[in-house]
Amino acid sequence: MPIQSTKNTESSLVLIVDDDHISATLISSILNKVCRCFTALSAADAIKFCENQLPDLLVVDVNMPGTNGLELCRQLKARQDTANIPLIFITAELGEDAQVSCWQAGGNDFVTKPIVAQTIVHRVRNHLLSKLRLDAVIKLSFEDSLTGLYNRNYLNEEYPRLSRQLMRDHQRLGLIIFDVDYFKQYNDTYGHLKGDMCLENVATVLKGYTRRARDAAIRYGGEEFILLLPNTGLSGTRDIANQILTDIYNLNMAHKHSPFDRVTLSAGAVSVQNMDRYTLNDVIEQADINLYDAKLKGKNKVISG
Ligand SMILES: [Mg+2]
Repeated sequence: MPIQSTKNTESSLVLIVDDDHISATLISSILNKVCRCFTALSAADAIKFCENQLPDLLVVDVNMPGTNGLELCRQLKARQDTANIPLIFITAELGEDAQVSCWQAGGNDFVTKPIVAQTIVHRVRNHLLSKLRLDAVIKLSFEDSLTGLYNRNYLNEEYPRLSRQLMRDHQRLGLIIFDVDYFKQYNDTYGHLKGDMCLENVATVLKGYTRRARDAAIRYGGEEFILLLPNTGLSGTRDIANQILTDIYNLNMAHKHSPFDRVTLSAGAVSVQNMDRYTLNDVIEQADINLYDAKLKGKNKVISG
C-alpha cells in the first residue's frame, strides 16, 4: 500500500448520498468550489462507492427509502476502513429527537433543510481540514523521512491486523529482510550524503516491488529494509528477493571497498503460515538468521527457508 500524499480540500473527495436526484445535484453544485463531489442515490450505492474508493467526507440525507441515512452511518462507522471518515447529515427535522438520533448514529455534524449554502460550505470545509490534518500526522508518523518508505512504527502497527487477515484467508506471509553490504565502508569512503543517496536508490527499487495493495516496503533500520509480501509462498518470496538483488547489482553504484566493486545487498527470506503461532519478532528473527547466513556465505546473495 503506497503512502498517500497530502491533499488539500480542493482535491479531496466528498460523497453526497441523497435519494432525491435534484437535491443531490444542488448540494453538489454548492460544494464543487470546495471539493470534488460524487453522488450516490441510495445507501447501497454509497457502500459500493466506498468499497471502490474511500471518500474524505460524506454528506448523507437522513430520510431515504430502504436503508435510511442513520442506518448507513451506523454501517460505515462499524467498518474499519470507513469508521474515521467524517459524516455530515442533511436533515429536514430540527426537533430534539431528530438531532439526538444523528449523534447516536455516529454522525459528526448535521445541516438542516432548507440548506444554507454558506453553512454547508463552512461545515464541509472545517471537517475536511481536520481530516486532512489528521491524515498528514498519521502519514508522517508512519513514513521514513529519508526514503519515503514506511518506517518501523508502521510495521508494528500494521502487523497484528495483517496477520489476522492472512490467518482468516489461510494465506502465507512472505517477508524479506535486506541489508546493504559494506555500508559502513561506503559511508566512510564516499560520505553520508552519498550514503543517503544510496539508501534512496535501494528504496526506489524496493518500492517498485510493492505491486499489490497489501505489499509494503519498510526502512527497518539504518541500512536495513523489509519487504512484506502477503499471500506469497517461499519460492515466490525468494524469486522477488533475487530480482531485487539483481536490480541493485545492475544499478552499478561504485563501491571500491566491496569485492563486487559496487553496492550490493544481502537478504534473508521467509514465508510464514499459521501466523497465530508467531510474533512479528519471531518472523523477523528467522529472516535475520537467513540474512546472517547470506553475509557469512559471501554477501550479495539470498538465503531462504
Ligand atoms: Mg430524502
